[in-house]
Amino acid sequence: MNDITRAILAWHEITARDLPWRGERDPYRVYVSEIMLQQTRTATVKRYYAPFLAAFPDPLALAQASEDAVNKMWEGLGYYSRARNLQRAMKMVMEDMGGRFPDTRESLLALPGCGEYVSGAVASIAFGQRELALDGNGIRVLCRILGEERDTGDKQVRRALAEYGESLLPQEGAGEFNQALMGMGNLVCLPKKALCGECPAAPWCRGYARGIALKLPVKAKRPEKKAEGRAVAVVVENGRVWVRKRTEKLLCGLYEFVNLPVPQGESGTDVLARAGIPAESLVPLGEYEHVFTHKIWRMEGYAARGHWDAPAGYERMDREALTAAAMPSAMNPFRRAAEEML
Ligand code: SF4
Repeated sequence: MNDITRAILAWHEITARDLPWRGERDPYRVYVSEIMLQQTRTATVKRYYAPFLAAFPDPLALAQASEDAVNKMWEGLGYYSRARNLQRAMKMVMEDMGGRFPDTRESLLALPGCGEYVSGAVASIAFGQRELALDGNGIRVLCRILGEERDTGDKQVRRALAEYGESLLPQEGAGEFNQALMGMGNLVCLPKKALCGECPAAPWCRGYARGIALKLPVKAKRPEKKAEGRAVAVVVENGRVWVRKRTEKLLCGLYEFVNLPVPQGESGTDVLARAGIPAESLVPLGEYEHVFTHKIWRMEGYAARGHWDAPAGYERMDREALTAAAMPSAMNPFRRAAEEML
């Protein structure tokens, strides 16, 4: 084991945080934690992990659950395609793999939604294999240690970082090392702060030595998010509210109120009137913004009571059904209004 690896592991042993999934070796439970942790803060995942596992304690339970039940347990965690893929993956484990959890990086990669990072994390943490798992934190840490100033979006650069990371892996305990790298990214080598004085890799770190740590990693600028106008209406008819289960790729399978795109130059009330919800019955609920990875919804909200000739795909829910329905957080302000109206 080389000196930097030894220093990182020793630091990890002292600083490792007490997280609900720490020390977990069961592949299903490790898999769930790693899928939840993708693009989501640890503090948020901590709230979801135990209830999710209580509802779906093993691959069979998740494979057999209804889509609505899974979405409800995932409600608010975001990136809902993860939940869909997680369930599809467990169906695959149960139906095509005889209930045996895949135990190599290659076989894990066959599961829907399982990429390089998750396969490496599960293979190393649950199965003790010498595999690297590099998430955004790990990439930042390695980039700074190497003083890598090229664009990390470039495949060659990613390959070089992975090769360097692999060279640091200990023969035994790769899972601990992977978690240590993530820990460094969370505790000392932060995106906008580098606490190099407390970092175990400082003696080897070129980013620190050259005083360029905070300029790294270099990432090509993402295209600006597109803003999209939306007209949202909470339409209550005879004590029940009109909702629709989304079929679009974005937020597929989740419920929403009337939520229609507003073309440029038009107003939300025009759009709702065209959908048969008369403008004179609308009460404004305010304007809200919801930011996704690639776009922003600018939503004007309205409440309305009375009969509506809803198009196909809509259904009416009473208060109880609405509480049980999984909705994206973009609908939160309108959900509160709906609950008050029911
Ligand atoms: S020494 Fe500083 S820049 Fe280098 S890995 Fe540690 S915290 Fe990050």
